[in-house]
Amino acid sequence: MRLAVSGHGASRGSAMGCARVRLPHVLEVTEQYVEDVEGELDRLHAAIDVVRGEMQALRKRLQGAMAQEIGEFLDLHALLLDDPELLQGLDTLIRNERYSADYALRLQRDRIAGVFTGMDDAYLRSRIDDIDQVIGRLHAALHRRDGEVRGVAGEILVADNVAPTELLQLQAQGVMAVVTAGGSTLSHSAILARSLHLPLVVGAPQALLKINDGDVLVVDGGTGLVVREPDASDLRDHRARTREYARERKQLNRLRREPSRTLDGVDIKLWANAESREDVAEAHALGAAGIGLYRTEFLFLNSNVLPDEEAQFRAYRDLVLGMTGRTVTIRTLDVGADKADRTGLALTDEPNPALGVRGVRLSLLRDALFETQLRAMVRASGYGPVRILVPMVCCREEMVAVRALLARVIADLRREGHEIAEQVPLGAMIEVPSAAIALPGFIGLADFLSIGTNDLTQYLLAIDRNNESLGELYTPLHPAVLRLLHSVITLANKQRKPIAVCGEMAADPAFVPILLSMGLGEFSMHPATMLEVRRAVRSCDLSRLRARAPALLRATDRAGIEKWMAAVAA
Ligand code: PEP
Ligand code: MG
Repeated sequence: MRLAVSGHGASRGSAMGCARVRLPHVLEVTEQYVEDVEGELDRLHAAIDVVRGEMQALRKRLQGAMAQEIGEFLDLHALLLDDPELLQGLDTLIRNERYSADYALRLQRDRIAGVFTGMDDAYLRSRIDDIDQVIGRLHAALHRRDGEVRGVAGEILVADNVAPTELLQLQAQGVMAVVTAGGSTLSHSAILARSLHLPLVVGAPQALLKINDGDVLVVDGGTGLVVREPDASDLRDHRARTREYARERKQLNRLRREPSRTLDGVDIKLWANAESREDVAEAHALGAAGIGLYRTEFLFLNSNVLPDEEAQFRAYRDLVLGMTGRTVTIRTLDVGADKADRTGLALTDEPNPALGVRGVRLSLLRDALFETQLRAMVRASGYGPVRILVPMVCCREEMVAVRALLARVIADLRREGHEIAEQVPLGAMIEVPSAAIALPGFIGLADFLSIGTNDLTQYLLAIDRNNESLGELYTPLHPAVLRLLHSVITLANKQRKPIAVCGEMAADPAFVPILLSMGLGEFSMHPATMLEVRRAVRSCDLSRLRARAPALLRATDRAGIEKWMAAVAA
C-alpha cells in the first residue's frame, strides 16, 4: 500500500528503486549455536578478509579532500578489524561456546560498546558508532552467498545512519539514493553526498519502521519525501522531477563560462576550496577566482613522516602553477581536534581536543616546523600569487607572532637569493568567536580575512560539528551566528579588507542571499557546488537584499530567519 514518509532533503536528486533496509545494530540476533565449529570459524574469517579487502579497495579510490575526510574513518575501521582483542574474542566465543558467528559478533559488540559507554570522554564514547560500522560490515559479509554479485545497483539504502566512508562505495555499487532515520543536512555525509550528486534524505525515522526489503521507493532528495509503493501520480512526479534535475544540471553546466554577477550587475568573487589535482583543474575550468582555501594538513595527514621544506614547496608550487596566475590561498597547518595525523604531531591525549592545541596554537608551539612551512609557501610565491592564511586565530598576539616570523622568513629567503613575490599577503581565519569579537583590535595585522563558518558555528553555539546526534542544532541559521557574521563582514568592508567565507555555509546556495545581504563579496567552496552558488548569485538583486539586512538581523530565532529566506526567495 502507498505510504509517504517525510524527512529532510540533504542532497538533491530524484531516485526510484527497491529498498534495501539495514536495521540499526543489525546484531539483534538471538542466541544461536553451531555444530561445525571449524566451518563457522572459516566463515567468520572469510568475512573478515572480504571486509578488509573492501576497505583497502576503497582507500585506493580516495583522492584529494575525500582521502582526508573518509580516509580517517577507514583507517580507524581497518585498525578495529585487526584488533586482536576483537578477533580472539570472537574465535573464543565460537570455539568454546559453540556460538554462531552472528551471535558471537553481537556479544563482542555489546561487550566493547559497554566499555566505551562507561568512558567519560564524549569523543571516545561516540566511537561506538565506528564499532557498529565495522561489526555491521562483518555481519553483512557473513550473509553474502558465495558467487553472489556484491553490487546493489538500482537499490535505495534505508538505514539508521550512513558514514561518509560508505557513501563512495554505495555509489560505486550503483545505489540510487540513501534514506536515513537520523543525521543532519550539514553532516559530513550530507556534504559528501552533495558533492557525489547522490540523493540523500535524512531525519526520516518512519522509513526504518515502515519500509521493508524489496519495497519499491521513490525518493526526492530535494524535498525529503520518500514514497513506498508509489502510485501513478508519484511515478509521474518522479519522471517530471528526473527530467527537471537533468535539465537543471545541463543549465548549470552552461554557467561554467558565465560571470558570477548579481541581477543588478555586481561581480561576486567565487574562490575554490581545493586540495587534489582534480579539484584544482576543476576549479580552474569553472572560472574560480583562485583557490580560497588550500588545507595543507592533507600533506601531513596522508603520510607517516613530516613533509620537509622541499616536499611542501613542490606541492605548493604545483598548486600555484595549476592555477596559472590566479591567486592561491594556502592555509598553515590545522591539525588537531578532529584532524588527527599519523606523524604524531597533534596531541592525542587532550581532554578536550576541539579546545586544545590545534591550528596556529600548534604552529606557534612548534616554531621550527612552522618556519619550514612558511618558507615553503613563500618560495612558491616565486611562481605565482600566493596568500597565506592562518587558522584558529583567537587573539591579536597570535597575529603579531605570525607576522614577525613571516617577515623573518621573507628576509632570509631574499638573502639566500630565492626569487619570491614582492608581496605575500597574510590573512586570518575568523572561526573562533573571540577573534570575531576582538577583530577591531587586530584587523590591521591582517591583509585579508576568511570566515570559517564550520568552526565559528561550532564554537559559538557549543555544538560539536561532528556529532550527528545533535542533528539540526548545528546550523548557521542562529541569530548569534548571523549577527557575528554581520559585524565581522561590516568591519572588514569599512576597512576595505578583502573578506571571504570559506566554511560550508558559502557552499550552500540557500545561504547566498543571507551572506550577500550582509555585504559579503567573496565566497569559497568546493568546486562541486560552485555552479549552484553561481546560479544563486545570478538570481539575487544585491541592492534589494542589502535593504533587507536589518530585518534579517532582527530575527530572534531560526523560524524567523527561515521566514526571511522564504520572503527574499519569493
Ligand atoms: C571552517 O572552520 O569553516 C573551515 C573552513 O575550516 P575547517 O573546516 O578546515 O576546520
Ligand atoms: Mg576551521
